[in-house]
Amino acid sequence: MDERAQGGERVYRGIPASPGVCHGRVVVLGDAARHVLRREVPAEAVEGELARLQAAIAHTRRDLLDVQEQVGRAVGQSEASIFDAHLLVLEDEMLLGEVRRRIEGDRINCESAYHEVAEKFAAALGALEDDYLRERAADIRDVTGRVLDHLMGRTTERDLRELADPSVILAPELSPATTATLDPRKVLGFATDGGGTTSHTAILARKLGIPAVVGLGDITARVRGGEHALVDGHSGMVTVNPTDQTLFAYGQLKQRRAAFDERLASLRLQPAITLDGHRVALAANIDAPSDAASVVASGAEGIGLFRSEFLFLNRRDFPGEDEQFEAYRAAATAVSPHATVIRTLDLGGDKLPAGWARAGEQNPFLGWRAIRVSLALPEVFQAQLRAILRASAFGKVRLMYPMISGVAEVREANMLLERCREDLRSAGVAFDPAMQVGMMIEVPGAALVAEQLAREVDFFSVGTNDLTGYTLAVDRMNERVASLFSPMHPGVLRLIHATVQAARRHGRWVGVCGEAAADPAMVPVLLGLGVDELSATPAAVPAVKFLLRRLRLAEAADAARRALESEDAADALHVSRSLAMQAAPELFHGT
Ligand code: PEP
Ligand code: MG
Repeated sequence: MDERAQGGERVYRGIPASPGVCHGRVVVLGDAARHVLRREVPAEAVEGELARLQAAIAHTRRDLLDVQEQVGRAVGQSEASIFDAHLLVLEDEMLLGEVRRRIEGDRINCESAYHEVAEKFAAALGALEDDYLRERAADIRDVTGRVLDHLMGRTTERDLRELADPSVILAPELSPATTATLDPRKVLGFATDGGGTTSHTAILARKLGIPAVVGLGDITARVRGGEHALVDGHSGMVTVNPTDQTLFAYGQLKQRRAAFDERLASLRLQPAITLDGHRVALAANIDAPSDAASVVASGAEGIGLFRSEFLFLNRRDFPGEDEQFEAYRAAATAVSPHATVIRTLDLGGDKLPAGWARAGEQNPFLGWRAIRVSLALPEVFQAQLRAILRASAFGKVRLMYPMISGVAEVREANMLLERCREDLRSAGVAFDPAMQVGMMIEVPGAALVAEQLAREVDFFSVGTNDLTGYTLAVDRMNERVASLFSPMHPGVLRLIHATVQAARRHGRWVGVCGEAAADPAMVPVLLGLGVDELSATPAAVPAVKFLLRRLRLAEAADAARRALESEDAADALHVSRSLAMQAAPELFHGT
């Protein structure tokens, strides 16, 4: 019998985070000790559990001896002898004897028996006065973690880049820094216990074209490394050990989607213009200059958001002015004659460069983030401003400040920008003196003073991801409150409406670069609110264009009026989605 069918199919439901379907062997990442499920086992399975324990101990012994040898060669024998203590813990008969007794006596699975006993030993040592003995508690946990990793088929985040075969990754969470380095040839898709659809991890998965499901609760505790899983990023379902029937059904769906994608691709060179002749600027979001090629391929007209902070992640030092200049120039020239909106650093929150500890901030999303970091590190900020100004001599570059909360921040940033212009002028370095300078509307307070802010900038771009989070007090990364996260909440829509109205009074343009701009269900209301530009992940651009070309501005404006007056997010979404479904039902098949 097919091995996949033997284990029986199991289906887990989460939040769809990145469309696409993949199927492959599972690699489970993360701290095995965090999620150990206690299971009773039948009497006839006890022998098997004891044998698994024996094998995991032997495996761990080989690992420790390997590490010891490597450390001995690279650092020295005395450092390598540290691992003698680990080997002693591993083979401690008192510990192993109690684990065996629990497996036999309590008839429980060996990972929970091992975890419980080891934790008991570690906790007893950790409570002692003696520093030396307390440190042995850490040894026990280290060794236990390795044994549990073997028992549960776990891999660590650092091993991800060395994956031998294409795999489906299951993890408690994935950081944006790690996700940015995933190789789509090796990582077929991923599914996580936590997370929300507008987390940067989900945004990156969509950009990479990797199917993903988040918010699955404790899937990493329920699935073992080596099992097979099918990740459906459209519906948010993860099917473990799918039957041949399930695989066949998905295969058919995939074929239908591929045929529709070809139809969408044929619109690449067509403008994003509504049936009643209203032209929308449809741009794309990127986080590296190499993404510019996919912007062009998607049929987007330029870059509406370059998340420059990704240039600062996964490295020990910050990129200097010249390195940044090259990156910005590359992006700007690749999409020329269209514009490139380069957002200045949005570090902080979940985007932490190497060495920045999360510790010390109770609420990183309300803390030292984005423009606040830039203004506190003027040298870093000015190097970036100069790099952007210099790139403006090579293409239509626009500069944008993130997470502005009031006029003072924009004025201070603009003052530093003016200083950079003067530096470049006196050094005879070329830049575009008319380069547009804009800001993001992500903070509700900023939307409410958009009138004042419009005097200081050339454009606004609404970041619906953070604007929604901050307006509704919903963490965009937390799956427990994910159902409350909706950019269609009338409170959020009123802030966008106020922003657009204020911008119009001052002759400024408004874009939306949050994930709402990539969601066909939300596009009608954004269009109807009078937004001039939508900027979506390149993969979503063709669908948004398809829809825009089938909508009428007048109908969208009517939908926006009704959405603004709606009672709640569900009603407003219904208004928007109904119009989208009526205009382009093909986009909603199979969702
Ligand atoms: C947003 O908040 O909507 C946005 C586009 O910025 P980011 O997702 O990078 O926080
Ligand atoms: Mg944001």
